[in-house]
Amino acid sequence: MEFATKCLHGGYEPQNGEPGALPIIQSTTFKYDSTAQVAKLFDLQAAGFFYSRLANPTVDAVEQKITALDGGVGAICTSSGHAACFISVMNLCKAGDHVVACSNLYGGTIHLLGVTLKRFGVDVTFVDQNQSNEELQQYFKPNTKAVFGETIANPSTVILDIERIAKLAHDNGVPLIVDNTFATPYLCRPMEFGADIVVYSTTKYLEGHALGLGGAVVDSGNFDWAAHADKFPEFVEPDESYHGCVYTEAFGKAAYIVKCRAQLIRDLGCLQSPQNAFYVNLGLETLPLRMEQYCANAAKVAEFLADHAKVKSISYPGLEGDASHALAQKYLRDGKSSGVISFVLDGSREAGARFIDALKLVRLEVHVADIRSCVLHPASSSHRQLTDEQLAQAGIESGTVRLSVGLEDVGEIIADLEQALAQA
Ligand SMILES: *Cc1c(COP(=O)(O)O)cnc(C)c1O
Repeated sequence: MEFATKCLHGGYEPQNGEPGALPIIQSTTFKYDSTAQVAKLFDLQAAGFFYSRLANPTVDAVEQKITALDGGVGAICTSSGHAACFISVMNLCKAGDHVVACSNLYGGTIHLLGVTLKRFGVDVTFVDQNQSNEELQQYFKPNTKAVFGETIANPSTVILDIERIAKLAHDNGVPLIVDNTFATPYLCRPMEFGADIVVYSTTKYLEGHALGLGGAVVDSGNFDWAAHADKFPEFVEPDESYHGCVYTEAFGKAAYIVKCRAQLIRDLGCLQSPQNAFYVNLGLETLPLRMEQYCANAAKVAEFLADHAKVKSISYPGLEGDASHALAQKYLRDGKSSGVISFVLDGSREAGARFIDALKLVRLEVHVADIRSCVLHPASSSHRQLTDEQLAQAGIESGTVRLSVGLEDVGEIIADLEQALAQA
């Protein structure tokens, strides 16, 4: 199936007389005829549903669709994007381990990795991803277990050189985890460039309508855990909590994603709800159409802002001359780079506030990648807890405005920005 067809038909194939739309299986539990059948499910010897903390048919259908869209071997839909980021790393790390992360990341992820993971005993080094391979090499340690980056960073819109960073990770015997939230699999499939694990906040473009929180972890199946058994013993040694199951032997290429569900989803309880999975599916059905329109609208808005006297600088990889323009051509479909634009207003923090307060159509919202245009001032909201130095590392100034261009009439979006800029 081609991408657009998968968006509509992937993951759920109704049989004769069954519902055409994906049903919401709103049930915590599933009925069985014999103890022997249930025992097989618990031993991971048979596939099936028994309790919706671990798996649910509605969620499973969406997981299969996302797996197909990204070209992976399996996926897990989580209760939020952060849950996905967290378990993607913790499926590889235990206390005493280390992660190399790009500093151009979503503010919440910087805290998750830099503060909360530290409390779990996992040390994270944040690095400027644009350094040379020789410079980046010095951050790897014997206990490094993963590299983490974002395809299009939130909010700096800096693009990750996935192929180069994947090779660097692999040369050090560890997988690359890529947060592909802004690009979506429509604009970029990171696994085709060597990423091993892809994560999403489905809250953003995938679900697309700002209805429900969610996330996803997708496994490429390409990382050879057995070849790096010294670093990842949990993949090749018997799991006593699953009757001695050895993940690489029992599940082959799907070892990572099965282990993630069997251990972390089981123990942390962060699976997506069936209702939210239904919303994600609804969003995925129109993903190609929406992404095309976000990109088309944002390209026009970016050109308008780039030419405006009150805009000091703008980051949008689709613009010629943008620092990430060349990488956008390589990694993003036709160089299209989502609806998110980051720009700095000439003048102060106050000018930014006056601009945002004057907007009428474009909403001030703590959200991004939404169907409606919205705007945020990261330094006073999503990235508020970061120091000035961390802000700079994440590619943000105090006057940076993050604009998420929605699907309204683009002339009306620009008119609103124009009248608000006049008041900035
Ligand atoms: C929003 C976001 C997250 C966190 O996702 P939630 O669904 O809000 O938990 C992670 N990464 C990126 C790039 C995001 O934009």
